[in-house]
Amino acid sequence: MIQSWGYAAQESTTPLAPFSFNRRNLMEKDVAVEIEFCGVCHSDIHSTRNEWGNAVYPMVPGHEIIGRVTAVGSGVTKFKVGDRVGVGVIVDSCRTCASCKAGEEQYCEVGATLTYGAKDKYGDLTQGGYANNIVTDEHFVHRVSTQLDPAGVAPLLCAGITTYSPLRHWEVGPSKKVGVVGLGGLGHMGLKFAHSFGAHVVQFTTSKSKIADAKRLGADEVVLSNDANAMAKEANSFDFILDTVSAVHDLNAYLPLLKRDGVYCQVGLPDQPPTIFMGNLIFKRRNLSGSIIGGMAETQEMLDYCAAHNIVSDVEVIPIQKINEAFERVVKADVKYRFVIDMSSLKRP
Ligand code: NAP
Ligand code: ZN
Ligand code: ZN
Repeated sequence: MIQSWGYAAQESTTPLAPFSFNRRNLMEKDVAVEIEFCGVCHSDIHSTRNEWGNAVYPMVPGHEIIGRVTAVGSGVTKFKVGDRVGVGVIVDSCRTCASCKAGEEQYCEVGATLTYGAKDKYGDLTQGGYANNIVTDEHFVHRVSTQLDPAGVAPLLCAGITTYSPLRHWEVGPSKKVGVVGLGGLGHMGLKFAHSFGAHVVQFTTSKSKIADAKRLGADEVVLSNDANAMAKEANSFDFILDTVSAVHDLNAYLPLLKRDGVYCQVGLPDQPPTIFMGNLIFKRRNLSGSIIGGMAETQEMLDYCAAHNIVSDVEVIPIQKINEAFERVVKADVKYRFVIDMSSLKRP
């Protein structure tokens, strides 16, 4: 077994604390990665606090992983020792179902294996990237440009692909008016991509203090979502709205902003369901949809797009010892715009 150490939640109400565990020895297609940086996604908080009701402990969270390859299995063809790589939200899938064959492993019909908190096909509980290393099948490992700041690249593995994929799927680009709801980790990447794809982008935020940043990040307009007059002015005008909000909020305030046939896509996953007035969908044939991360080929496409267009996440780098404080600040929407853990701060127990 490979020795690993990191920070884990032992139950839903305890803070993360140092934890030692083992990873499997390398199988034929496995890559071992020494982790350099790991982003802090709001999903790490929902998961460790069991807000979605499916947590398994102990849980080492983290699925925005950047590091260097330290060893490869005998059948690995994509990577060699020393390569800089990324690992995201899933580490396995069946590879044979229709979704897997279509390159949409995240929708695997028997269920993709999450990077942490899931039983893998070897019977082990997966553990994530708030740790010194990870062992993963090469199919779920991505090439990362060494030209970009690795701390800024880490959030692309979840926040990046989760916003890139739906914007591509619904063909956001020039002549489209697009809204992004919530300016957090996902929201600021959605804003950067929608702007980069040439759309007219409107950022919705509850935080007055983020208006100037939203413009700097590419918003053509910024609307305070708690200003009913400003919201009313945007009625029936959007082709597409991407909702990244982590807490329950009133979708009925946003659905009327879509044009006829417009699409509202939910990527934020609050722990409680919303109440929707169906008239907001029916009277303009509007569509309510959702999306989860992206496939492995599309994740590589997104990373290559970011390298070509010099796109990274705006990050606040922290030592692992500050992780519980960082969780509290994320919950208060007080992060600009993603915490990333510098794993060199992690001490061997
Ligand atoms: P985050 O950094 O905390 O950002 C969420 C933003 O939502 C906040 O910055 C805030 O933006 C806004 N917000 C928070 N509470 C609100 C409230 N009560 N009412 C209105 N707005 C509120 O979180 P994140 O890491 O971007 O993740 C966002 C959500 O996406 C989480 O639920 C996460 O689990 C989910 N997620 C889904 C996928 C997927 O594949 N579908 C992938 C990753 C994450 P303002 O200050 O601008 O209002
Ligand atoms: Zn995530
Ligand atoms: Zn499958």
